Amino acid sequence: MKIPPKCDVVVVGGGPAGSMASGMLAKAGFDVVLLDKARHPRPTVGESLLPHFWNSADLLGVTEEIEAARFVEKAGALVLWGDSLRRSSFKDFGHFRKPLHVDRDCFDKILLDGTARRGTSVFERVQATRVDLGGTSSKRVHYRCLDEEGEGSIEADFVVDASGQSALVARQERFRVFDEDLRFSAAWGYYAGGEYLDFESEIRPVSQLRDHPPVTVVTALGDWGWAWHIPLRETISVGVILTPERWKEVGKDADMETRFLRAVDASPVIGKLVGASEFIEGSASFMRDYAYKPVRLAVDGCYLVGDAAAFVDPINSAGVTFGMYAGILSAWAIEMSMKNRSRSANYQALFERQYLERLRLFRLLAVPADRGRGEDDHEASLKSLRAFSDNEKLLALTTSFLTNRSERIQRLFEDLELNADLRYGDFPIPGRLA
Ligand SMILES: Cc1cc2nc3c(=O)[nH]c(=O)nc-3n(C[C@H](O)[C@H](O)[C@H](O)COP(=O)(O)OP(=O)(O)OC[C@H]3O[C@@H](n4cnc5c(N)ncnc54)[C@H](O)[C@@H]3O)c2cc1C
Repeated sequence: MKIPPKCDVVVVGGGPAGSMASGMLAKAGFDVVLLDKARHPRPTVGESLLPHFWNSADLLGVTEEIEAARFVEKAGALVLWGDSLRRSSFKDFGHFRKPLHVDRDCFDKILLDGTARRGTSVFERVQATRVDLGGTSSKRVHYRCLDEEGEGSIEADFVVDASGQSALVARQERFRVFDEDLRFSAAWGYYAGGEYLDFESEIRPVSQLRDHPPVTVVTALGDWGWAWHIPLRETISVGVILTPERWKEVGKDADMETRFLRAVDASPVIGKLVGASEFIEGSASFMRDYAYKPVRLAVDGCYLVGDAAAFVDPINSAGVTFGMYAGILSAWAIEMSMKNRSRSANYQALFERQYLERLRLFRLLAVPADRGRGEDDHEASLKSLRAFSDNEKLLALTTSFLTNRSERIQRLFEDLELNADLRYGDFPIPGRLA
């Protein structure tokens, strides 16, 4: 199949955000072309999903495929922060569909196949190199084919940039601003076999994952770093997030894999938990300084969604779910604009406002309490919080008590008339892991 010279919407990137945006637009009858520089399934990090993602999966029509993939259902989260080991579960907040631990290569491929089934023309191994924004008239996306010689361009009425951390448009237009309050670097890798913790904080062999669902384990490291332990179908994803200064202390001269393994070994609970697992050599990856602030979320009919728009610390496992939501929101704004061209600017502004309000809340949940105070917009944050159901508000408030990251969001709750019945439990650290 050849890339056409023209279509209604070009979507750059076939991760969760791009698949949702394109899928919704194709479902609405538009002619959509999606370009991805990778060939799926492609590996990527971000395996712990909030249960909210099911709503998006239903809309795209991929629920059955996700269920058939038999990803690991998780029972909740266990967070060791300071002296307390706290547990919480989504079912206490009215979520009866299970949150999952997914192998992202497989999960993202299901979404991409889903959008193709909806009618999106998907082209893999095609890298978008530039977007001519063209003011309010049509846009042009330039691309390079990676498997064969060739480049070209495609014209479209609207563009969705879902290029993830590549942040094609934000870099091109020079409005990508690093978030100084969240300057950290992550390393992660994969282990085979061994043990995990279940909801009762009992240590179990991985052979029991299906009968005794695991929790996502998060433990604090030093000043404000943290580590994760996420059992998947065949492997366990383990990651460490530290400030660049702390990574230097872990071993200036050591290679990245050695530093990662040292940092894991030094992590409370997780260091001991992986003692029974085997590290899969060569599986470690490293990412530096990847949190950045949203400055513009849309420019003249070019919409930025998912990591291409902004990224905060992944401590609340919201990236994939939120990226899917942003994809749907962009598709709504584009569909409305197509139907009523004279109001395009209004729909774009609505998209930006709605998206920004939610981003602000996620950032408040992730930024350490002693940083960036001056930037809070208390009234605007309060307004976004009010839009959520009581269960979701309580979920946000409870999450803020699992770590000391989000004390500022607690202040917002003081202004809400909400019976703040927190739903978490305190647990002793299992003896062998203490
Ligand atoms: C250390 C770490 C841990 C995380 N943990 C979690 C977690 O537990 N749970 C969670 O929900 N989220 C987590 N996240 C966040 C999550 O990974 C991202 O938010 C999510 O992948 C964003 O989806 P996306 O569709 O925006 O981008 P991506 O999934 O990155 O997809 C972008 C796609 O665009 C393609 N692309 C890039 N540039 C171009 C180009 N120029 N032309 C064509 N194609 C292009 C890429 O090949 C890719 O397929 C974590 C992130 C990090 C860094």
